[in-house]
Amino acid sequence: MKNSALAPEVQEQEIGDYSLRPTSLKDFIGQESAKDNLRIFIESAKKRSIAMDHVLFFGPPGLGKTTLSQIISRELGVGFKATSGPILAKAGDLAAILTNLQERDVLFIDEIHRMNHMVEEVLYPAMEDFQLDLMIGEGPAARSIRIDLPHFTLVGATTRSGMLSSPLRDRFGIPLRMEFYTHAELQIIISKNAELLGIPISRNGSEEIARRSRGTPRIAVRLLKRVRDFAIVNNADIIDKNGADIALKRLDVDESGLDSMDRKYLKCILDFYNGGPVGVETLAAVLSEKRDTIEEVIEPYILQNGLVQRTARGRVLTADGYRYLGIQKSVQNDLYEGDLL
Ligand code: ADP
Repeated sequence: MKNSALAPEVQEQEIGDYSLRPTSLKDFIGQESAKDNLRIFIESAKKRSIAMDHVLFFGPPGLGKTTLSQIISRELGVGFKATSGPILAKAGDLAAILTNLQERDVLFIDEIHRMNHMVEEVLYPAMEDFQLDLMIGEGPAARSIRIDLPHFTLVGATTRSGMLSSPLRDRFGIPLRMEFYTHAELQIIISKNAELLGIPISRNGSEEIARRSRGTPRIAVRLLKRVRDFAIVNNADIIDKNGADIALKRLDVDESGLDSMDRKYLKCILDFYNGGPVGVETLAAVLSEKRDTIEEVIEPYILQNGLVQRTARGRVLTADGYRYLGIQKSVQNDLYEGDLL
């Protein structure tokens, strides 16, 4: 299991957590291009008094997909219902949710790539024609009926856009990619959250936490709370760089924001596979992790930072990856044109 302080997929259930979520586009820091687009589509839908087109957010966990979906419904002034792909076991589960929607509501489906096939089939006519095809009865007496649904906006979120079937992906009019946050953006988020939590933090304190938060607001907020715990116990009046550094070291978060699991992953490629290439299934088996965890949680930040490259033959450590592990090596000649995915 990944160190829970750094696991972006683990949602913190702390009282008051919801009050830390930004509630308007204006207060939502970062994701400028997604926000610029959304502003236009929201305004247009409002002016025409119709349901906004369906939106698909894709990107690693903890970047604000759920938060932005809630903001969309608020900005549109409509209701918000949330569910998730794995929860919708039967077609009837989705049908029940769809028939309970109000006109123009936002329906948020998290992890939409994990929805099963039968449920997905129900979604197609619902998204396209706002209609629901239901089978009533069984055997020879079975018949199909068609029900009109309210016009609604589906907001799907996925960490793996590649795992979405293309008929489903094509039905989203507004696909939006979520990007990792810059240190400056994370610093603003940390300062705002510190204010909401009532903890004074110095500029270099927030800078230090931002630098080590893997470009992910959920991690930034969580690390801030843990650093606060250390500050409280040590009777510190303010979180500064030094206090943040000591706490983050204790939490096993290194200078680059990588934790013990990330280091284990990199060292595994180095020690057992001589720097790669090695397939993700093999890595998953050796690290005793699920392949999904490796691809959705561990790898995005490591790939983004150029420590590892995904090639057709598997994962390969880059020169920066070697350098991170304290080894100087040129790896350029090991890669062939066309190898990169
Ligand atoms: P996702 O759905 O992508 O996994 P969430 O929307 O649940 O991510 O966001 C995770 C946490 O990070 C939330 O608690 C939210 O308050 C915080 N967060 C995400 N994006 C931002 C942002 N742009 N500004 C401030 N806080 C954010």
